[in-house]
Amino acid sequence: MGKKGRAAVMHKANTPLEIREYPLIEVERGHILVKIKCCTICGSDLHSWLGKRGTVTPIILGHEIVGEIVEMGEGVTHDSGDRPLKVGDRITWTIMDNCGKCYYCREKGLTMKCIHLKKYGHDSCASPPHFNGGFAEFCYITPGTCVIKIPENLSNEEAAPANCALATVMAGWEAAGLRPFENVLIQGGGALGIYAAALARHNGCHKIIVTDILEHRLEFVKGFGATDTINTKNLRDEEIVQAIVDLTGGFGVDAVLEVAGMPSLIPLGLKCLRKGGRLIVQGTAFSGAHFTYDASDIVFRWLTIRGVHNYDTRHLQWGINFLEQTRNIFPFHKIVTHNFPLHEINQAMQMAHSGEGIRIAVKPQKS
Ligand SMILES: [Zn+2]
Repeated sequence: MGKKGRAAVMHKANTPLEIREYPLIEVERGHILVKIKCCTICGSDLHSWLGKRGTVTPIILGHEIVGEIVEMGEGVTHDSGDRPLKVGDRITWTIMDNCGKCYYCREKGLTMKCIHLKKYGHDSCASPPHFNGGFAEFCYITPGTCVIKIPENLSNEEAAPANCALATVMAGWEAAGLRPFENVLIQGGGALGIYAAALARHNGCHKIIVTDILEHRLEFVKGFGATDTINTKNLRDEEIVQAIVDLTGGFGVDAVLEVAGMPSLIPLGLKCLRKGGRLIVQGTAFSGAHFTYDASDIVFRWLTIRGVHNYDTRHLQWGINFLEQTRNIFPFHKIVTHNFPLHEINQAMQMAHSGEGIRIAVKPQKS
């Protein structure tokens, strides 16, 4: 082809990303080449950039991607929902490519833990096809990826965070097994907390309590169904627990969703549960996230702690369905607060790190 594309490459954690060019290779059977329209910065991109988790290099970070089909390899005709695909269609896709045949894929239903797992924005970009992350002009989608055509009524900004933030929340939601009229505590008012609140409201939860230390996030999440918000910045743990107990008729919440990435929130969340309650840990996706807790409390009060990392393919489709169905109820279009062109990727990362916005979008081309 002889064509090239640009990508923002991280060579080492804690150093600026560098824009460089890679050649585009021929699109192979079962593959799709997309032009990236929008990629939002996820908390885990920041963790990798800041060296908080081991990351291979060189790497093109970014996995919350929306792309437009440029070319489809032989055999590609439909998306994972059997909707016909053509050049120019906008698509999103799972964060992972899984083999569908290994012990975890086939026998244990844990496709996100596939033995042959590949992940967009997580693998080395050193060898062709290079384009396997979101902070770039192009991306090659491999055959083991679940591809979903984006409904007409969803904008690129609305759809981009679906394949990580929203789909992950969907997986956590399923694990929590929350039912209508139950009470939930959401620890963290970032993008995941926002989606979790909207989902809780949509599913008829009674008390939807969100905690955070940033006031603008707590204000924002009220637009997504939070019934109560608590700024925990200057509160002691006992005061927080008391506030939760008071809001739930003296019992504590049915479930806690930890989506803040602070290990100290886990013991606190456990204390906020009613007897028989369950805590879903999702945010602390980096090593060294230790906590201590009195196990007798877990025994005596029938508590459940469950970890959820990434998601299964169905959760992404549910996420897209949810956005399509409720976009007139919840202001999802406001979740992307800032936009940056690809060549300003380092400013974009700084902005994401500052916590000033909610989701920061990087757009390689003028739309
Ligand atoms: Zn992510």
